[in-house]
Amino acid sequence: MGPPGVGKGTQAARIENHFSIIHLSTGEILREEMKAETSIGKQAKDFCDSGQLVPDPILLDIIEHRLFHDDCKNGFLLDGFPRTLPQATGLDTILKDINQELDCAISLVADEGELVSRLVQRGKELGRSDDSEEIIQHRQKIYWDQTAPLLDFYRNKGLLKEVDGIGDISEITNRILKVLQ
Ligand code: ADP
Repeated sequence: MGPPGVGKGTQAARIENHFSIIHLSTGEILREEMKAETSIGKQAKDFCDSGQLVPDPILLDIIEHRLFHDDCKNGFLLDGFPRTLPQATGLDTILKDINQELDCAISLVADEGELVSRLVQRGKELGRSDDSEEIIQHRQKIYWDQTAPLLDFYRNKGLLKEVDGIGDISEITNRILKVLQ
């Protein structure tokens, strides 16, 4: 977990390699669905493009579908999900059904000013339709309003580990690996 631009995707890819587990990024999945113009993609597009959250039932459907695949049996890393309380409680139900448990919830922590400038840069480099300054500010606000309360949800379960998200990419990976071990 962590606000937009904190480096969740970058770190998730490195953790995926380290443990040879599946990395599921809901942002990536939604972007693929939008590109392929599937029914999910069409439903998600206006929400994503304007920096709003895609409705919970769509996300829960995607995750349920994906976690039932055999390739998730050896472990998985969720990136960008859950982002709301209903998603987190929905995830608990799905995990019960597949007889799995979360080992850890990692929160990458960073200052908002730094993140907005990183994202404006990424928008220019990758041409992501939701990386303009105004929409980035909106996504940050949604994170603090809707997703940050989840930190307490996982803190209360004793699963939350907070990791400083500022520094070299490999240094941050090492911090994450340390809390996972
Ligand atoms: P970032 O973390 O930089 O905002 P993501 O790639 O994780 O980027 O997500 C991009 C967009 O996809 C979000 O702004 C939102 O519209 C949608 N999205 C991704 N994951 C979720 C989720 N769990 N719930 C609702 N919407 C989501």
